[in-house]
Amino acid sequence: MNWVKAVARIGYRQVKNLARLVMGRRVSFPPLGSMTLDADDVQLAQQWLKEKAEWYRNDEIEQYHHAFASWNGSEYAFSFMGARVALSAAIYALGLEPDDEVILPGYTCVVVPNAFHFAGVKTVYSDIELDTYGLDASQIEDKITPKTKAILLHHLYGLVCRDYEATIEMARKHNLFVIEDCAQSTGAEYKDRKVGNWGDVAIYSSERSKIFNTIQGGIAATNNSQIAQKLREFHEQAPFPDPTQVDKLLHNVVIDYYRFKHPQQWLIGDIVSLCYRDKIITSTTQEEEQGVRPSYYGQKLPAPLAALGMNQLKKIDRYNESRRQTALKWDRWCDIAGYRKPVKVPDSTPTYLRYPVRVEAYKKKNRVWARKELGIEPGIWFKGNLHPTNIEINSCPNADDAVDKCINLPSIVLE
Ligand SMILES: *Cc1c(COP(=O)(O)O)cnc(C)c1O
Repeated sequence: MNWVKAVARIGYRQVKNLARLVMGRRVSFPPLGSMTLDADDVQLAQQWLKEKAEWYRNDEIEQYHHAFASWNGSEYAFSFMGARVALSAAIYALGLEPDDEVILPGYTCVVVPNAFHFAGVKTVYSDIELDTYGLDASQIEDKITPKTKAILLHHLYGLVCRDYEATIEMARKHNLFVIEDCAQSTGAEYKDRKVGNWGDVAIYSSERSKIFNTIQGGIAATNNSQIAQKLREFHEQAPFPDPTQVDKLLHNVVIDYYRFKHPQQWLIGDIVSLCYRDKIITSTTQEEEQGVRPSYYGQKLPAPLAALGMNQLKKIDRYNESRRQTALKWDRWCDIAGYRKPVKVPDSTPTYLRYPVRVEAYKKKNRVWARKELGIEPGIWFKGNLHPTNIEINSCPNADDAVDKCINLPSIVLE
């Protein structure tokens, strides 16, 4: 974006902020992005910016894999530049081939079906339930054909999905692999074991809007040594992002901290964004949204982001606990306002990345009410069945309902 346009946009926003300040309204809202970045992460990023020669050091990366696996209660973990890439690794590891079919929820991120399409695997969508927005196990069997090889189940918003065991049982009965998409629920537990450890292979995300944050990043984890061997193969041949990109990623740690977490984010965030506007990166390009495989797709995490990931892991339990506390507050709000609370499955410990609630469709379209009544800016995951696109899929009425009505409330509220 050019300088003049950027200044104009920021100027416009700051005029609005000033007006809000004059009227005694709030100018900053609880973060929906980079929620777990703190000053120590900024320091770490600044340190690594000075140590360019160390950016592709393998020991740091290996250490991160062990740290994540051990924290997650998994045998093996491998890091990539996104959960989407971790999914591509999982598809490779399971030996899925062109013309195989996978069943997945009709309410997901477009990068999930993309990973299958990049491998030639056909995606078959199945509807979700509206208790936890996971696959409705009772609707899966109809979708199974002789070509079906795997089911991808997900745990959204930090919840543990309602039909977790039923879906896995269904897969076992039909001899199908289970891929768990834990991108939004890192650290959530079911029967005292972290999600992702129940299926064959799981993916986790450390993208900036997720439970923990390396700006971009993802993990593939498994407890199966044969699958792990294949994941390792994929990891070994995966390229690293080039130094220009690593430099940008590290700068985004600094930028995001000032945009989302600094107490004066409403002003300083804009100034920092303006100064570093050429460094700001987005996770998904428009082309990728349309299903085009980016040229840089398939990379693995470099050492500085692995170090950041390890630093984030030190704080993840504390942040998840505070999310659960905030969820209690939103539970009370739902009771008073007459909305249905997301279901906390028995024996589960959710992590509430965001607190999902279905409100009237017009309240999802125009969310000014939330600023006024709740002092927050709600998120709108998902705005399409294949977020963030409006690509149409076969009929999934519950998923469509969630697309129309489900907003999500921030789960980290700063003092
Ligand atoms: C964010 C997300 C992904 C992709 O994660 P990246 O790390 O951005 O590739 C996959 N699935 C779900 C449910 C997500 O929310």
